[in-house]
Amino acid sequence: MPHPNDPSLRSFVPVDVASDFPIQNLPYGVFSTAALPTPRVGVAIGDYVLDLWELEQDGRLADGELIVFAAPTLNPFMALGPKVWSRTRARISELLRHDNPELRDNERLRERALVPMARAKLHLPITVAGYTDFYSSKEHATNVGVMFRGKDNALQPNWLHMPIGYNGRASTVVVSGTKVRRPRGQLKPPTAETPSFGPCQRLDFELEMGVMIGQPSPIGEMLTEAQAEEMIFGFVLLNDWSARDIQQWEYVPLGPFQAKAFATSISPWVVTREALEPFRLQGPRQDPPPLPYLQQAQPNNYDLQLDVALRAAAMNKAVNICHTNFKYMYWSSVQQLVHHASSGCAMNVCDLLGSGTISGPEKSQRGSLLEISWNGTEPMELASGVKRTFLEDGDSLVMRGWCQGDGYRVGFGEVEGTIVPAG
Ligand code: MN
Repeated sequence: MPHPNDPSLRSFVPVDVASDFPIQNLPYGVFSTAALPTPRVGVAIGDYVLDLWELEQDGRLADGELIVFAAPTLNPFMALGPKVWSRTRARISELLRHDNPELRDNERLRERALVPMARAKLHLPITVAGYTDFYSSKEHATNVGVMFRGKDNALQPNWLHMPIGYNGRASTVVVSGTKVRRPRGQLKPPTAETPSFGPCQRLDFELEMGVMIGQPSPIGEMLTEAQAEEMIFGFVLLNDWSARDIQQWEYVPLGPFQAKAFATSISPWVVTREALEPFRLQGPRQDPPPLPYLQQAQPNNYDLQLDVALRAAAMNKAVNICHTNFKYMYWSSVQQLVHHASSGCAMNVCDLLGSGTISGPEKSQRGSLLEISWNGTEPMELASGVKRTFLEDGDSLVMRGWCQGDGYRVGFGEVEGTIVPAG
């Protein structure tokens, strides 16, 4: 049987070459329809969702061990581990192949199991156990450092030695399309003598990838590179909304708190680590070499293109404001996970790790408005008469990501969020 990543595979479901969801991808999500409002697990293929609950009920998903797709989250499936993930993906690929009549010619099952994407409501794909956010793009950390500490002290002394992170909030991770309310908080601009409480004036996005942890690790245990990799189920696009003014006043000495706690948006389709395998590449050279526990024997970065577009309420269409690549990350997701467990910190099924803002070496590759507007000093013009330094009410922010194969792309769809007033 050909490998599910084989570029020559085709599905009987029509898939446009520009689609994010060819048979080589098969990302998992949770969806419902007006006809059947129960959220359940599906896989994206072209402009359709393949209903895995229907296939499971029809006995098409092997073994009888998989009674997990009627669940309203991916948590029970992810808990089954990498061997089952791999076997299930291979079976779904087989069922969708153009030369396999099993589903293709079974009209009754096909009608029930293939739902037009336009009719599907997409839900948060996992119940997030814990959320941790990192700060692993050297370009992003350098830009921010230059802004606030000057060129000579841009990177903090610890930065080149470990993936810096903080524990975020799982309770406010939301799915694409969820409106984001402008946060309120304590503000103390440098010119004010005392703080006040009110709506954030410097609301920002952060372009990140989210890593879905699919296996637990026990308290007290460290992880090897190989163990950490096996624990990663897949990836989503992630927008780590940030209140820069709240952050500036609150973050000393313990780091961000309310500035990051109000919302984190993720894309609805989880692209598996296995589907990204053909796009793996070596990350930037690490100098000084990391301590032995953080050293990597294999390339753990991905050639994954990323776009950010912004549309103000007065504009007809969104304008691209950033195009960068996940490959620039200095610390890989595997290194982040190894470091996270290095103290003996237990990891849970459905922990979510944010990569940290992904910027690149060029000006057009800056993954936040803080960098694009250089802390508000360089407004950008989106359309005639529409200028931005930070986000305003009614602004809609869309992130997209994809790996380009030969004649197909393994894509993530999008993560969108629109800002609504603090009220
Ligand atoms: Mn972040």
